[in-house]
Amino acid sequence: MSLLPRVVVLATGGTIAGSSSNPASSAKYQAATVPVTALLDAVPALAAVARIEAEQVAQIDSKDMSFALWSRLVERVAFWSVQPDVAGIVITHGTDTLEETAMLLHLACVGTVPVVLTAAMRPSTSLSADGPLNLLDAVRVAGHADAAGKGVLLVINQEIHAGRDAVKGHTAAVNAFASPLAGPVGYVQDDLVRFARIPQGLPAQALPLPSVWPQVEIVTSYAEPGRVVVDALARAGVSGLVVAAAGNGSIHQSLTEALADAAAAGVAVVRSSRTGAGHVAIPALPRPSSGIFVSAGDLNPYKARVLLMLALAATPALARDPAALQAVFAGN
Ligand code: ASP
Repeated sequence: MSLLPRVVVLATGGTIAGSSSNPASSAKYQAATVPVTALLDAVPALAAVARIEAEQVAQIDSKDMSFALWSRLVERVAFWSVQPDVAGIVITHGTDTLEETAMLLHLACVGTVPVVLTAAMRPSTSLSADGPLNLLDAVRVAGHADAAGKGVLLVINQEIHAGRDAVKGHTAAVNAFASPLAGPVGYVQDDLVRFARIPQGLPAQALPLPSVWPQVEIVTSYAEPGRVVVDALARAGVSGLVVAAAGNGSIHQSLTEALADAAAAGVAVVRSSRTGAGHVAIPALPRPSSGIFVSAGDLNPYKARVLLMLALAATPALARDPAALQAVFAGN
């Protein structure tokens, strides 16, 4: 009989580890209360899928995600990836900031050992909790030979998404996650794990994590925005700003002026879209409303912020070199 794959589960909290005294409510509960050992014990079927080791890396509601925890997660992934015989790593996470952590790991953890995030929209004590099946499916994918070399993945609601692409698009539904432009990379149906495609944009090299994280904030363009926020952020010394711009990266003229002043003072400015899907075009001729700042491509503002932080930490001079920064976004 062949040995089951060895899969490591790194737990960080979230709703998948949430509990409530009212099983009929999926909204009133406390996230990050159930230890990883109990989450695993609740899924006896795991014993037939993998040899599991677990580590409680954190126990937080992911709305409170921190740079320190991101650094610790990357360090634990690096540690387990090189242990003999580890077939894959699963990370349990809250859904709220999962798309940011997925982007970070996509950029910082490059290797062949699969890293598979999973989560739940309903707490562990709820009726029809989605966590147990998501956890089982994530372990199935992490231990599957076809997952190697596919980068960081998210397994949720029987779908496999690229960590780079997955975003949360609903406050409560179990199908809250999607990859808006690209679609899922595969699916899980019981013990069938199917990859339909290879994720786009897999980095050839990992970006190092900053020892000091550059301050990058997000501002939004909407009807008649004041320039007060951008001016205050520039005065506070931010290294970068991501604009959640309207439509195809369009920015209100009052904000454009403020952002141009910030850029002239050395702040990196990146245009993303607040629409939730689509690629922010780079116009042939730079236009003040949409073309004078770097395009984030198809990265939403939160994912663009993660890339901008890592890029600026690695190469601070990018803040004054929009062409080089544009190349970073085009390549990621
Ligand atoms: N607030 C929770 C968290 O992100 C939500 C969830 O996991 O669904 O930790």
